[in-house]
Amino acid sequence: MKLFSSIKQTFNRIVAWQKSPVIPPENTREETVCMNCGETFAANFCPRCGQNRKTERLSIKKAFRLFLDTWGLSMHGLLYTIWHLFARPGYMIKDYLDGHRQPYFPPFKTLLVVGTAYAITFALAGGFSEKAIQDQKEHNELVKKSIQEANKKEGTAKAQSRDEKVKETASETAVKDIKLITEFSEKYNEWRKHNMVIEQMLMHIVFAFIVWRLFRKAPRRPGTNLAENIIAQVYICAQLGVIGIGVIIYEALTLPYPTGGISWELSFVTFAYNYKQLFGYSIWRTLWKTFLSYIIFMALTILLVGFLVLLVGIHTGVNAAMT
Ligand SMILES: [Zn+2]
Repeated sequence: MKLFSSIKQTFNRIVAWQKSPVIPPENTREETVCMNCGETFAANFCPRCGQNRKTERLSIKKAFRLFLDTWGLSMHGLLYTIWHLFARPGYMIKDYLDGHRQPYFPPFKTLLVVGTAYAITFALAGGFSEKAIQDQKEHNELVKKSIQEANKKEGTAKAQSRDEKVKETASETAVKDIKLITEFSEKYNEWRKHNMVIEQMLMHIVFAFIVWRLFRKAPRRPGTNLAENIIAQVYICAQLGVIGIGVIIYEALTLPYPTGGISWELSFVTFAYNYKQLFGYSIWRTLWKTFLSYIIFMALTILLVGFLVLLVGIHTGVNAAMT
């Protein structure tokens, strides 16, 4: 019993820490003369020009920081934000949305840096190795073969229809449709290989839209607007990127080459963990709403694909009617 209560106490202490926003350091009472503008003040930063009270001589460490600054990278801010994204993600995002902006690395920048780190890790771990490229080629060959086969079938169907002097049969149109869909999916795959970031962004914006509707009456943060949901999504995306780097490293150690993919179970747990802290529904309610978000997202994707297939079908139908 004693052990149980002490575990509970520790747990409560951790949750209390997770919930509390980061408190910035107190202002110093010491008077300083600004090295830039000459203003005398007693604060951490100059109230007139904003320069840090502690402006020290340049050192190698400082020079390296200036070098990183070129890309708007402050290592401290970035690592600090990633740490919070794992230790208290939903609460950190809530803090950011509620106006505690200063302590954290901005969302899109975080995503950009993590995305770059992910791509570099993927390349270094052999994601583009000969074996990986060979397997990809074989896969492409298979797709091509199925297109050629569809072409062949179309050819015979045409010859038949010419013999019988009838209009294109339904099966011929269907073969044409399949060919177009295969070609479309091949083109799409080609496109997404080069535009993975755009694809991911679009997917996450759609997901943010669903979450915006489903979690709008959240007890901890009611009325979170669409923009806030998108920013939350960007931070979660960065989190998934860091998890993805872990997956790549694990795969590189156990597989011939990494795929870098995150299973839907893992992403589901990540999302639910974030939403539990950000929106404050009960655990079961959070799991249910996250699950519902996934289902709606899948339904929307199927609808979109169905719509494209329908367009393709109309296109072939009109073509068949015209010839
Ligand atoms: Zn100053």
